[in-house]
Formats: sequence, C-alpha cells, structure tokens
Amino acid sequence: MQSLLNLPDTEHTMPALFVGHGSPMNAIEQNEFTQKWAQLGQNLPKPTIILCISAHWETYGTQITAMDKPKTIHDFGGFPQVLFDVEYPAPGSSTFANKTHTDNPSIALDQRWGLDHGCWSILTTMYPKADIPVLQLSLDVNKTPQQHFEMAKTLMSLRKKGVLILGSGNMVHNLGRVAWDKMNLPEYGFEWAIQANTEMKSAITSHNLDILTNYSKQGPAWNLAIPTPEHYLPLLYTLGVKSEKDNLQWFNDKAIMGSLTMTSFVLES
Ligand code: ZN
Repeated sequence: MQSLLNLPDTEHTMPALFVGHGSPMNAIEQNEFTQKWAQLGQNLPKPTIILCISAHWETYGTQITAMDKPKTIHDFGGFPQVLFDVEYPAPGSSTFANKTHTDNPSIALDQRWGLDHGCWSILTTMYPKADIPVLQLSLDVNKTPQQHFEMAKTLMSLRKKGVLILGSGNMVHNLGRVAWDKMNLPEYGFEWAIQANTEMKSAITSHNLDILTNYSKQGPAWNLAIPTPEHYLPLLYTLGVKSEKDNLQWFNDKAIMGSLTMTSFVLES
C-alpha cells in the first residue's frame, strides 16, 4: 500500500456515505435496503481505501485500526449461527493507519479491534469481493458532537485520494422502543420517529450544524430517537467531509419496527 500514499490527488473527489445499517441480519439477507447497498458498490468509483466510522466501536480517545489483516468481529448475540459464520476478509492497511497517526498524532493506532458488524454487515453486500482495504476509526466517548465534527473535517482531504468515508449508524435508533409486533412490516415508524427523522433530514439538507450538534436540545422526538449517541454520531463524520460542491442524495429513507430509520445519504460532487 506504500504507493497509495504517494498518489497525487485524483481528478475526482470520492463520494462519501452515511448508511443506516439496521439489523446485523442485513449482512445475509436480500431486501430493498441491501439492494441499494449492492447498487452503490457497483456504481460508485472503486475506492482505494474504505474508512468506516461505525456506531459499534467506542473508545477513550480516537483510534484507527492498524493491522494488515483485521479480524471479523461478531459483536452481537441472539442471532443464527449462519451470521456468526460470516467472515469479511478484506485487508487493512498499516501504512495508511501509520500515515493517519503521523498526520494527526491524537489518532492512536489500534491492534486489537478489527471490523465490527456496523462495518462488515454493509460491505459484505456492497463489496462482496472484500478486495478493498478497510480501516475503522473509533468514536471517542469523551468528544462533544462539535469535536466529532471537527475531527471529521480533518478527513476531508482523503476523499481526493480515493478514500471512501463510510459513516455507519442509524439516525433514529431506539432498541428499547422497538415495535416487535411490527417487525415484519416493510415500513412502520412511530410518530416521534418520523418527526425526528424528518427534522434531521431538514437540518442535514440545510447543513444546519447548530441543530445537528445540539441534538439533545431539539425536543422529545429527538430525545427518543437518540437515547444514546453512538448510532447518531457517525452521521457527523459524513457531514464533516462534505464540501460545498457536493450534492446530497437520500436513499433507504424508511422507518422500520417503529423506532428505527434506515435513512441514508450519499454525497457526490
Ligand atoms: Zn448498530
């Protein structure tokens, strides 16, 4: 991977993604959401590196996976064995991780994590060949939302190197309120979930960071939508690498099981 670091900027800026990942079962199911993931994998320019900010990796201080062969982490319980059997053998890139650490020493090198399901449940469908190096950047539990956004801005130049920034979470994510009796419906959202999702989309479209970083002050619907921040914060990373030239396109914009939204977007210039 040494050559990657010597690459001049590409002519085109790599798109960036925020993906609502939903259930880990999406890794092995075919549905309308995963169909869109497959299409993106086929239609986006092939990335040189994928840098994923997953809801499922929280640490003290920001870390980046620095191993050349990241393991597939099955960080869930109560799912069928077939899901635990999934391996996503994409390489990592110690060279890229070291360069990131050199450029920003506050990002520590990690040798213990790997790829969690927030990352591989999407990539198994999006890039089934697992031939693109994948790294994860952790969510620092000590950072404020504004600090997460500032950290993300330091990643913006990577898009010019062909790096795909992939924020993976869910805009509305309240597992304690899931309507289990509605889990087989293709679309179902509680009123507060739809309200929060709509207001978040509006703030994202207008790039209103004041609202988005002060998410805990936006009223009861948002508080129900974001009971804990980890599924929401990856969205700030995708917005942090947004340039003025980018067009934002929504996809998978649906509520399911009452208290989750799969709403996702791609930034393309
Ligand atoms: Zn999740």
